[in-house]
Amino acid sequence: MICTFECTFCADCAAGVLGGVCPNCGGELVRRPVRPAGKLARFPASTTRVLKPDGCAAVAPPAADPEERAA
Ligand SMILES: [Zn+2]
Repeated sequence: MICTFECTFCADCAAGVLGGVCPNCGGELVRRPVRPAGKLARFPASTTRVLKPDGCAAVAPPAADPEERAA
C-alpha cells in the first residue's frame, strides 16, 4: 500500500495496525499500482527492504501539512 508521498507499507500493516493511514504523513494508504511486466524488465523493482526498526504503529491524527510535522 502506498501514500501520496510514495511511502510504501505491506498490506497486512496498512490494513491492520496502521488503519489505512500513513504513519509518516498521515495520508491515505491505497493499493500501489502494478508496474507493467514490460516496464518491470527494464525498470526492476528494488530488492532492498527498508524496515522500521520497531515495526509499524499507528500514529496521532495527521497534521494539516506534513512539513509542519518535521519542524
Ligand atoms: Zn506518507
